[in-house]
Amino acid sequence: MEEVSAEVRQLVGQLDFDQAELARRYAYERDVRLRPDRNNQYIETEKEFSHYADDPYAEPLVRAAVEGHTDVIVVGGGIGGLVTASYLHDAGVDDVRIIEKGGDFGGTWYWNRYPGLRCDVESYVYMPLLERFGGFPTEKYSRGSEILDHLRKIARKLNLYDKALLQTQVMGLKWDKDAALWRVETDRGDKVTAKFVIMANGLLVKPKLPGIPGIEDFKGHTFHTSRWDYDYTGGSQNSALVNLADKRVGIVGTGATAVQVVPEVGSVAKELYVFQRTPAAVDYRYNRPTDVAWAGNLAPGWQDDRVVNFHAVAGGLIDGPDLVKDGWTEIGKLQDSTASWAAKKIGRPLNSAEAEFVTNALDDLKMNHLRARIDAEVKDPATAEALKPWHRRWCKRPSFSDEYLQTFNRPNVSIVDTAGKGIERMTANGVVAGGKEYELDCLIFATGYEVGTEYTRRAGYDVIGRDGVELGQYWHNGMRTYQGIFIHGFPNLFMCGWGQSAGTFSVTFMLSEQAKHIAFVLKTCLDRGLRTVEPSAEAVEDYVLSVRPLSISQRKFWQDCTPSYFTTEGDTANPHGMFANIPPVGPIQFYQDLEAWRARGDLKGLELA
Ligand code: NDP
Repeated sequence: MEEVSAEVRQLVGQLDFDQAELARRYAYERDVRLRPDRNNQYIETEKEFSHYADDPYAEPLVRAAVEGHTDVIVVGGGIGGLVTASYLHDAGVDDVRIIEKGGDFGGTWYWNRYPGLRCDVESYVYMPLLERFGGFPTEKYSRGSEILDHLRKIARKLNLYDKALLQTQVMGLKWDKDAALWRVETDRGDKVTAKFVIMANGLLVKPKLPGIPGIEDFKGHTFHTSRWDYDYTGGSQNSALVNLADKRVGIVGTGATAVQVVPEVGSVAKELYVFQRTPAAVDYRYNRPTDVAWAGNLAPGWQDDRVVNFHAVAGGLIDGPDLVKDGWTEIGKLQDSTASWAAKKIGRPLNSAEAEFVTNALDDLKMNHLRARIDAEVKDPATAEALKPWHRRWCKRPSFSDEYLQTFNRPNVSIVDTAGKGIERMTANGVVAGGKEYELDCLIFATGYEVGTEYTRRAGYDVIGRDGVELGQYWHNGMRTYQGIFIHGFPNLFMCGWGQSAGTFSVTFMLSEQAKHIAFVLKTCLDRGLRTVEPSAEAVEDYVLSVRPLSISQRKFWQDCTPSYFTTEGDTANPHGMFANIPPVGPIQFYQDLEAWRARGDLKGLELA
């Protein structure tokens, strides 16, 4: 049997707690939350619930249907669509039409305008193309409004507004074999065509609601955080929600969104009840204004260097220098990379017992630290106890705030701990949790987005490929792509976003690298006068085999977790799950490999006609 050496124990430091007891507590907390209905516990924002996804920001639009052809149509005007348009422009491709459901560009930053909204990845890393389009974030973690302004500026500078179809939902894409183009239909009767289509629909786009009895009976006001109703709350993204001063408000959920919203609502509302199913693990934020002198002295190329450094440190690939120095670069090591990080530290590979020991111990220490923070920040011991998370750091999306925990010291703010059960039902007057009814004027759903359902269901449109095959059907048992971008049977169609590419802490890194790749292939096709491009069946087969399935240790990690959208609510074998596909190499290597593929110029794996 393998032993854990003294040098490895020394690296981890003193463990003055019972690790086995902690593991038992984690298992207990997972078990009380696992539900047989898994992802089906949620209500889709469709039919009688579709108003939860309506656009509260745009004026109603009446316009004639549009017809016309462009070289490229991009579905989605968020960061993915914008960076793709930017790299296409740099390649000399400007005949681009973006079709976007929202009333403006911005994607997630268009829809999410809730009070307290900030990017929780460092904005110098996150905000795309800062050197290319100018401007500099005013804080380390920018407000949502600043990010939205930056994204609109990119759209303006690229003249994307001219041909864009805003407030327009794509309903279907159909490949026309004879004409070798895509026919695109929309909810406004448009009939537009393009030689190439890029799907940049985003990941967390479709709001979801808890499937609780009586949700329609509530007579008070309700909305989802991604469609904030300032007409009701008063105030704005950056000013107090004055209308809530005489209101009893409930918030359902304690994810990354609620962690930002709760302090804003709590500082104003007459009463605030936060209905908690699983406590958030909230680390320090330490936001601060940008040092203008530092920003002014950055050398050209600084942003790309910083992005790569961030992912290298957060991914445990290097131990320094750490340019970003925040919660992400600290906890990035608490993943699969922990053992390789430790091996580098002690100068030899770890045996399997050591690898398991280091991985568990560092995670336990981190979570103990966060639980101790709660005792230090929250005055009432019972409230502090209720707010403590009992799961490993990566079971849930990490949260950061220097205001969330302190908000529970306010006399008007209460945590309603449902001990893992969630709210039971809604009545005409409010919410029932733990057998008690809480009377409310307003209930805000901070309940997140659909993940782990089929791609086309979340995108909201059908895609009919070369042989009349529908993409949802083709992907019924999970995504099948080449390089996470190209799809066999769907010529001249590219996808960017989460799926079968390497995921990144800052999604703009992934989206930008995919955009470069798409722009290169698309431009090559135009230059060579090619009619179609699509991956060969063999290339897809090989690629899919390389990204699936999860390793035994990865699967075990997720199975041990409290459920969340990371695990499709405990359904770790779900082929549509967020982490159902993981390339065998990390993001830096993955995107360097794509760059090398481009440099070779042979478009290996693609069939050209
Ligand atoms: P999440 O899916 O993370 O959280 C949903 C919350 O709703 C959870 O706390 C969940 O509890 C709770 N919930 C669901 N059903 C019930 C129920 N029946 N009763 C009580 N509670 C319930 O959504 P978020 O919107 O918070 O975050 C989604 C993602 O958006 C983040 O993970 C992050 O990736 C992104 N985001 C990014 C930000 C940024 O700055 N970059 C900021 C905010 C969000 P449970 O945990 O038990 O499931």
